[in-house]
Amino acid sequence: MTTTTNKNNSSQLVDRFGRRVEYIRLSVTDRCDFRCVYCMAEEMEFLPRSEVLSLEELYFVAQAFVDLGVNKIRLTGGEPLVRRGILSLVEKLGQLPAELLITTNGSQLAGMAADLKRLGVDRLNISLDSLQDDKFKRLTRTGRLHQVLAGIDAAVAAGFKRIKLNAVVLKGRNDDEVLDLISFARDKGVDITFIEEMPLGAITEHDRAEAYCSSDELLALIKPAYPLIDCTEKTGGPSRYYRMADSDSRVGFISPHSHNFCSECNRVRMTVEGRLLLCLGNEHSMDLRQVIREHPGDIERLKQHLIQAMDLKPEQHHFDLDDDAPQIVRFMNMTGG
Ligand code: SAM
Ligand code: SF4
Repeated sequence: MTTTTNKNNSSQLVDRFGRRVEYIRLSVTDRCDFRCVYCMAEEMEFLPRSEVLSLEELYFVAQAFVDLGVNKIRLTGGEPLVRRGILSLVEKLGQLPAELLITTNGSQLAGMAADLKRLGVDRLNISLDSLQDDKFKRLTRTGRLHQVLAGIDAAVAAGFKRIKLNAVVLKGRNDDEVLDLISFARDKGVDITFIEEMPLGAITEHDRAEAYCSSDELLALIKPAYPLIDCTEKTGGPSRYYRMADSDSRVGFISPHSHNFCSECNRVRMTVEGRLLLCLGNEHSMDLRQVIREHPGDIERLKQHLIQAMDLKPEQHHFDLDDDAPQIVRFMNMTGG
């Protein structure tokens, strides 16, 4: 048995640069029902079950993080909602004294949104790159737009605290839909964030440098149609947000290339094999699966490892579209994006 007591304390997880880690992103599966062109290759090999943390192990890690003062847990993947038994994990996590968030492609939400809300999920991020059937299909390879739109409607109806759409924008593929996506977000009363593609994993469908679309280019495109007002509030994350005078929806930008956000980084990630990644753009990591499988139930030992792991957190990422820059070989679905 453990004590999970740290509801209001600030985190005991502090790195060498004085950054406090208060946010853990847990990848609960590397599998997905989509094959988005910027995230996965068409043919993917997934992990064998023995290498994947069980739902109990995932909960155990979350509990240790919360004990140490982490106040925000995000479930991601792969597609978190295709993990078998995910609702039982959500139910347990929903009782921890931390905010619970999920990032999803929306394909399962029509049937699951109400349960997720009831079990304690506070906020959802839903990926949506296109509002056009054929383009959506080309970007996701196997996705069906109508399912995702039904999922978004179910999420809105379920009454989450906040819903945010995420769109990765690629030049020549969906950059012409940016204004339509904002209009859609305004109609639904949700936020939207545009993401610059990151060089994670070797993809074959497009040249990342050619498809690169900077947040500043998007801002220039958006501002004449929707005057944007700078948001002063800090999100503790990499997004820069803007408001619109005539809507509650916010427009955000995640710009790993054009705006470095490392100095404010408050998060770490864990892959579904239990590899703690200290930075999205670096390979610095610690094998937590080994710790929890060699010492099952020993949460104090796990917590000591988490505290020590903070020393491995690098100062910043090195994303660069230049060929000679360090590139990350793992795919986003392995990373827990
Ligand atoms: N399957 C869920 C989804 O799509 O929302 C959760 C996992 S997905 C890896 C999380 C987010 O990462 C999605 O919004 C997706 O668009 C984004 N993403 C995936 N690969 C990316 C890349 N190479 N660069 C930037 N964002 C990426
Ligand atoms: Fe699946 Fe999300 Fe990756 Fe798309 S971005 S392939 S939905 S994990």
